[in-house]
Amino acid sequence: MDLSLLADTLAAHGQPAYRAHQVWAWATRGVDGYEAMTDLPADLRSVLAAEVPFSTLTLENEATSNDGTIKALFLTHDGRPVEAVLMSYKDGRRSLCVSSQSGCPLTCTFCATGSMTFARNLTASEILDQALHFRRLSELNHCVFMGMGEPMMNLDAVLAACERLPDIGITNRRTTISTVGWVPGIERLTQVKMPMRLAFSLHAPDDDLRSQIMAVNDRYPLYEVLQACRNFYARKRRMIFIEYVMLADVNDSPEQAVALARLLDPAVFKVNLIPYNPSGSPYQGSSRETIDTFAQTLADNGIRATVRLTRGQDIAAACGQLAANAAS
Ligand code: SAH
Repeated sequence: MDLSLLADTLAAHGQPAYRAHQVWAWATRGVDGYEAMTDLPADLRSVLAAEVPFSTLTLENEATSNDGTIKALFLTHDGRPVEAVLMSYKDGRRSLCVSSQSGCPLTCTFCATGSMTFARNLTASEILDQALHFRRLSELNHCVFMGMGEPMMNLDAVLAACERLPDIGITNRRTTISTVGWVPGIERLTQVKMPMRLAFSLHAPDDDLRSQIMAVNDRYPLYEVLQACRNFYARKRRMIFIEYVMLADVNDSPEQAVALARLLDPAVFKVNLIPYNPSGSPYQGSSRETIDTFAQTLADNGIRATVRLTRGQDIAAACGQLAANAAS
């Protein structure tokens, strides 16, 4: 829901400011329209239904994976595609993966989103409406900004959304912002009060290789990004996740694991190895054995590493697969 349109509409109808809080409180509890808001006068409910769309996003398609992961494709009011994913785990974790942009202006060679057209930044309301959509299906408790787009290039809207996610059940401590290493964004996140986690998509242990697979490295080389990450840790005392997608014969050798371990301070970073999900790029994913050897080599060199569970691959909902085929 466009919260500034809501406030303007309430004001135009001479309604007290607390009405906006009432509406938002109902929305965060997962109702699916104004009709359910029984403490609002009936005529006001009709006015809102006519003048303030309940969501800024229209659901175009929804798919459920055989592991229970759900992917939703939405369109914005101006027809831009947005995807979000809900992952449910046996221990009760409900993790929402949201998009911060429609498409992505960056062109990481292994990522499907990077190959589609960049449309625009999403507004805070468009980010929150992804969460509210899934809140109508179940309770939520974790959020990762790992859908389409680079959240640090749209940080005003991302932070505005983070301010309201706790109302929906997702605390800032359970929210992770993932970045290609956009240094000004990391610096700003270091200064804000909210305690979100930081994840850095590193993917290559040296600048040459990293620039080949992620052009953004020419702008913000590894040394600068790692320094910004260390400053983040010094201020926030929250460990940073290093994301590392495992590409066969590209970045997955034991020597590269040793080089990666040398870059990282074990007090600051832990590594999350991501099995590569097919995305129409020329890469092959590393074998399970190669990934395990890489993880063990990191461990032997003092760096904690986990291997990410791949979820939703059968519905193209896994990392790097969000490309909104309907629109590309
Ligand atoms: N732009 C941010 C947010 C996207 S997060 C970032 O890059 O961090 C999506 C994560 O999935 C990133 O770590 C990204 O590098 C990774 N990824 C991209 N394509 C992938 C693929 N095909 N398989 C596995 N992971 C991929």
